[in-house]
Amino acid sequence: MTDMAYGDGTRAVRAGLPDPVKYEPTLPGPVFAAHFHLPGEPTGPYTYGRDENPTWTHLERAIGELEAPGEPDVETLVFASGMAAISAVLLSQLKAGDAVVLPTDGYQALPLLHEQLRAFGIEVRTAPTGGDGQLAVLEGARLLWIETPSNPGLDVCDIRRLVAAAHAAGALVAVDNTLATPLGQRPLELGADFSVASDTKGMTGHGDILLGHVSCRDPRRAAEVRRWRKVVGAIPGPMEAWLAHRSLATLQLRIDRQCSTALALARALAERADVTGLRYPGLPDDPSHTVAARQMRRFGPVVSFELADRKRAERFLEGLRIVDDATSFGGVRSTAERRGRWGGDAVAEGFVRFSVGAEDPEDLIADVLRALDEAGA
Ligand code: PLP
Repeated sequence: MTDMAYGDGTRAVRAGLPDPVKYEPTLPGPVFAAHFHLPGEPTGPYTYGRDENPTWTHLERAIGELEAPGEPDVETLVFASGMAAISAVLLSQLKAGDAVVLPTDGYQALPLLHEQLRAFGIEVRTAPTGGDGQLAVLEGARLLWIETPSNPGLDVCDIRRLVAAAHAAGALVAVDNTLATPLGQRPLELGADFSVASDTKGMTGHGDILLGHVSCRDPRRAAEVRRWRKVVGAIPGPMEAWLAHRSLATLQLRIDRQCSTALALARALAERADVTGLRYPGLPDDPSHTVAARQMRRFGPVVSFELADRKRAERFLEGLRIVDDATSFGGVRSTAERRGRWGGDAVAEGFVRFSVGAEDPEDLIADVLRALDEAGA
């Protein structure tokens, strides 16, 4: 069911469903198997549980239909986590002597990967997400890695423009699409070679599964990523894969609600004198908005802003009643955190990353405004 003609909601609820079989469930249950009946020659599709699993196949088709509607040849591979998916692309595509360009302001575990890549003899170059700094360090690079919108700063880069420059320089491009999800942005259509995501976040949306995926159009590259998954064994459990697939059915409902509330919250925060550095790519006057509007169809659930200092931010977070002080983002229950507590991001002490959930917008905004008033009192 890859028909482009359907809307996002229809494609989300039907994504990856097998053809109907009388008396079978519409979405078959998880298949738990380390090995499969395999008399004779060991040919596919299902031989051993680390290589392939029918529950992954359904989920991979579903994600593929969302990442690249109407393109059944795009291959998707699911992983045990977003980091497993990221590492699979980097480590299957790069070898000693190669150079890679990574963001300075991306997910905070990326610097751990820098160390690993350097230890393998790979040159790591860096550039911030916004401002096209990547263009100056592309020469001779094998892979450009971008994360747009970036987490947690919410800067955006022009995927089409960077892809054109990277391809002209002979480099592949991978986009971390975690924050946007494929309903927000489709990197493969914008020319990227890999769309990679942590599906721990908005894609599954309930804060109860760790999962990741890689989608790519070139079958040779897909085979390399697949081989990496088999070698390293960073595979998702069938239960997680099945829960993820079930969660995709509500993706459009969740994301639409979260994005519209995020915009309303950002507008309310823009009115406050005690809030500075407000960022939301959907706000028309946000520095990211022009580029975001060219390539995104929804602007994501994350709003970031600064309060005067650490104490004020902590009082604000403590005062929230229907928002959990927790990390991660993209879930149906709103979360917020003082990002500086981790020490990995270049953010001010009072910087708050706020992930908007599916609560009633008026309840959520009232909670935030009250907690801000109390934090400043
Ligand atoms: N990419 C981004 C943008 C993230 O925010 C995260 C996690 O927060 C990851 C990747 C890593 O995903 P996971 O925690 O599923 O390994």
